[in-house]
Amino acid sequence: MEPITSLIEEDEDDESEMEAIALSTPPMILELPDSSTQEQQHSRNNSLSTKSQSLTQFVASIKLKSRAVTRALEKKLLRRCDCTGEGRSSRGSGARIYQVWPGNNVFFFHGRLIFGPDPKGLLLTMFSIVISSWVSAIYNIDDDSLPHSLVTRLFSLLLALIVLVNLFLASAFDPGIIPRSNQPPLPFNETDSSNITRTSTENRVVTVNGVELKLNYCRICKIYRPPRSCHCDICGNCVEKFDHHCPWIGQCVALRNYRRFLAFIFSALVFFVYVFAISCWRIHGRMVARQSGFMEMVKDCPETLALLAFSFAAIWFLGSLVGFHLYLIAVNQTAYENFRQSYKSSMNPYDRGILSNVKEALFAPISPSAVDFHTQVSQESV
Ligand SMILES: [Zn+2]
Ligand SMILES: [Zn+2]
Repeated sequence: MEPITSLIEEDEDDESEMEAIALSTPPMILELPDSSTQEQQHSRNNSLSTKSQSLTQFVASIKLKSRAVTRALEKKLLRRCDCTGEGRSSRGSGARIYQVWPGNNVFFFHGRLIFGPDPKGLLLTMFSIVISSWVSAIYNIDDDSLPHSLVTRLFSLLLALIVLVNLFLASAFDPGIIPRSNQPPLPFNETDSSNITRTSTENRVVTVNGVELKLNYCRICKIYRPPRSCHCDICGNCVEKFDHHCPWIGQCVALRNYRRFLAFIFSALVFFVYVFAISCWRIHGRMVARQSGFMEMVKDCPETLALLAFSFAAIWFLGSLVGFHLYLIAVNQTAYENFRQSYKSSMNPYDRGILSNVKEALFAPISPSAVDFHTQVSQESV
């Protein structure tokens, strides 16, 4: 078949052929828009391009604004978290220690309350106590199986309140954080008269009750830690008389909050024993009154059975914990020392007999916090 262009050139006068050619011509040629349609299309294209330009400008302005907001937030966060000397100096004299503290703690009320970095365990503990108290109190109202249900309910709420207060006291204050040092470590490779090469991180030794104890150097805090202290990796601090980091209170347990921690676990044990007892009483009373079996009880009061199972598990856990800490108090050890078996090969210089150990653990005065996080930063502060 010949191309269309050659046919047009050869048979210009033949109209019939032209019609045939026109019919066989592709629609692109036949359906060319007229001038008005072209103008409309042109104006439509113009308006579309204007709209797309304005949209591009709008997107660009949004991007600029979001960048500006991000930069402002970054600056704010950096200022809040900055723990470098530059940050401290740039904040001027108005900065307080809690604002520049390099540890991972979370502060409230201008450094007056100090929590650990992870609040999940603390919130879960609070939730379990509140929900146990709520289920126990609500479902025992007007229950004929319990005598004096109002008194029972109020006592349950009072116990829960005591547990929550002890939890707050144990988790919201300084556990015994040791101040850091701004001074650089001792110079490396310093050679003394005996020609022994020393480093800035060599161990120092102190004698406690005739027993020599090593003082380890903390590279993070740049200090020689006192005996029985340890650097908590979670909180990022060296803590005096470190016992352990408790995930259930979200805080280190150490010199300054050990008694509060004991008060918390003991009161929580009493609370769950009480909840367990009244749950048993309620189930027993209902089973006797209605002459029903265990399966009927599952349908009748599932919330009390769930509370019974939960409080039973809590009693086992808290009972073991209280027992373990009573043993530690009796032998004057921290949980950390016990886990590491620090006194396996040597005597414990802090063990002065059970009575003295109990007296020291429960009644000895507690030293004030070594770091006042509320005060303004000075050269020696952090
Ligand atoms: Zn440290
Ligand atoms: Zn800790």
